Amino acid sequence: MIRFEAVHKSYGRHEVLKGIDAEVGRGQVVCLIGPSGSGKSTLLRCVNGLETYQAGRITVDGVPVDAAAPTIHGLRTRVSMVFQRFNLFPHRSAIENVMEGPIHVLREKPAEVRARAEALLAQVGLADKIDAAPAALSGGQQQRVAIARALAMRPDAILFDEPTSALDPEMVGEVLQVMRTLADQHMTMLVVTHEIQFAREVADAVLFLDGGRIVEQGPADAVLRNPTHERTQDFLRRVT
Ligand code: ADP
Ligand code: MG
Repeated sequence: MIRFEAVHKSYGRHEVLKGIDAEVGRGQVVCLIGPSGSGKSTLLRCVNGLETYQAGRITVDGVPVDAAAPTIHGLRTRVSMVFQRFNLFPHRSAIENVMEGPIHVLREKPAEVRARAEALLAQVGLADKIDAAPAALSGGQQQRVAIARALAMRPDAILFDEPTSALDPEMVGEVLQVMRTLADQHMTMLVVTHEIQFAREVADAVLFLDGGRIVEQGPADAVLRNPTHERTQDFLRRVT
C-alpha cells in the first residue's frame, strides 16, 4: 500500500532521511519508533506530500507521490493524517469538523455526510458530544474527533504522528483503544508512537529510525523484545 524506496530528504544542506526502504502492506499496522529528531515526522509528511523528497521514491498503491503534481490532492484525500495536536477548527463543533472534508473536498451531499459523521463520532465514543466545541472537549476527546475526521474521508490509509504524546496520561488509553479498533477492522496505518506496549500488541511490523536511517525493522515481537542493534536497545531502555 505504501512503499519507500531509497528515499532521501534534506532541508537545505541538512540530510534528514538518508535512504529509507520500507513498506506498509494493505491492512497492516506499522509502528515507527525512534528518538526525537530522527526524521519520523518528516517521513510521514513525505507520504502525503506535505514535504517533498529529493531522491528515491514513495508510492501509494503503486502511484508515485509527487508533492508538485496535481494528483497530490487526490492522494491526500486517500491518505489521512492525525497529528499530535489535533488541529481541529476551534470555531466549529465536533460534527462540523468531521463534515468539513467530505463536503468541501469530496463535494458530497451534506445530509449524507452528516449521517456518516454522526456514525463516526458514535464509533469513537462521542455520540453525546456531536455539537460540542473543541474547547469544551478534553484532549482525548478532541483527538477522537480528529480520528473521526480522518475516517470521514474514507481513506485507504491513515498516518498518525504521535497521536497520544500531547495528552494527559489518563486520556492516552481511550485514543489507543480507538486505534486498536481500527486495526481490528484492517485499516492500513503507519503510526509514529512512543507507546511500546501498543506497538507490541497491535503492530504487524516495527521500524526503528535513528539519524535518518532505519536501523532495524521487522515483526513487532522481534524488534521490541530482541532488538539486535545497540541503538534500538538503548532507545527501548529509555522509553519503557
Ligand atoms: P522526529 O519527528 O523524529 O522528531 P523530524 O522529522 O521532526 O524528527 O525532524 C528531523 C530533523 O529535521 C530534525 O533535525 C529537525 O530539526 C529537522 N527539521 C524538521 N522539520 C524541518 C524544517 N521544516 N526545516 C528544517 N529542518 C527541519
Ligand atoms: Mg515528530
